[in-house]
Amino acid sequence: MELNDLYRDVILDHNRRPRNFGPLENADASAEGFNPLCGDRLTLRLNLGDDTIRDIRFEGQGCAISTASASLMTEAVKGKTRNEALALFERVHKLLTDDEAGAEDLGKLAALSGVREYPARVKCASLCWHTLASALKSAPSSAAPAVSTE
Ligand code: ZN
Repeated sequence: MELNDLYRDVILDHNRRPRNFGPLENADASAEGFNPLCGDRLTLRLNLGDDTIRDIRFEGQGCAISTASASLMTEAVKGKTRNEALALFERVHKLLTDDEAGAEDLGKLAALSGVREYPARVKCASLCWHTLASALKSAPSSAAPAVSTE
């Protein structure tokens, strides 16, 4: 099996059966994302305790890549601290935009590297991550992280 086939299967599976899809009660933080290039819409809700993502769910409508990316993201960041999730966002952004970026330690998120072949779809795949970053940055925190924009 080609690696690209494996990646495609992961994307198709997560589009067909998105994980953590639906409303989330008692959310501490939320954000909405919109990708005008494709029409993808996404609402992300999080439960944060001790600065850790205890639960995360998403709703919205979008193309297969945006839905699969959001599904993969919710699985990947659940249980991570705010800073760990933001660091993962940086890794994924690099994976989507840098042909040289490795994905060995990214698990299923490596499937997103297939999007690099379709530059017009990078925004579809990164929408949920940008939405997550804005939700995390807007959430109240006892120890607000210093977020670098460099
Ligand atoms: Zn899209």
